[in-house]
Amino acid sequence: MKKISVNEVGPRDGLQNIDIILNVDKRFQLIQSLEKAGINSLEVGSFVSPKAVPAMDNTDTLLEKLANSKSDYSVLIPNTYGYKQAKDNKVKEVCLVLCATESMNKENINKSIDETILEFKEIINMAKKDKIRTKIYISVAFECPYEGIVSSEYVYDLTKEFLSYGINEVVIADTIGAGKPDQVKKLFRRLVKDFGASNFSAHFHDTRLLALSNVKAAIGEGITKFDSCIAGLGGCPFAPGASGNLATEDLVSMLHKEGYETGINEEMLRNSAKLAAQLTN
Ligand code: MG
Repeated sequence: MKKISVNEVGPRDGLQNIDIILNVDKRFQLIQSLEKAGINSLEVGSFVSPKAVPAMDNTDTLLEKLANSKSDYSVLIPNTYGYKQAKDNKVKEVCLVLCATESMNKENINKSIDETILEFKEIINMAKKDKIRTKIYISVAFECPYEGIVSSEYVYDLTKEFLSYGINEVVIADTIGAGKPDQVKKLFRRLVKDFGASNFSAHFHDTRLLALSNVKAAIGEGITKFDSCIAGLGGCPFAPGASGNLATEDLVSMLHKEGYETGINEEMLRNSAKLAAQLTN
């Protein structure tokens, strides 16, 4: 049976994009519940300005509480300062986000794409020395709320550039849920042919109810790692209309029905989804 890996992003992507702010104990409780369901890869927080993203404040305290777990945790960082915090907190994997359009990148981290690439290159170099894994989200990889359709040629070029710097994983992220299965198929066909499938994962949103079809299209091209978010929490605060992260329980249920193995228990996952709904009202 073919194995598909699920990377849970609810504790970060989900919780930072809703109105309610959960304290560290509640964030910890949600993560523990997800781990009990069999999830062992999670994006748990970020080192960003607590003023900009108050929901992710105290990620350091959360990591302390998670120190004895065997799961793979990643943390999002926007810049070199965030990298240093991640390193000080013994994070083993950091996630970078680059938006594939200038307007969206500016909105997201207030920098041009070129400035962002320069800083990220430096972070990747430090991380290699520090033996910290790096992963980059190419956000709005199909369409941008400000600039419309994004050229797949450009996404390809960005991917190639970051792989040449030694990034460990490129996540193709359809941040506003605008990608269609044929676009997904085309992009991944080319990326996988030139760089191999193991460097990639995909992050889909269900805004137009195409997330699962897009997952299937990506699997068809050899992709075996997907992001999802318990109870479909959150979207993106800076992207108009970007509701609906793909729900982990939907992804896992579809994968099992299609005969893939995830190592995740669906019944326990439903409990986690209930808990997520309770904690966030
Ligand atoms: Mg998302």
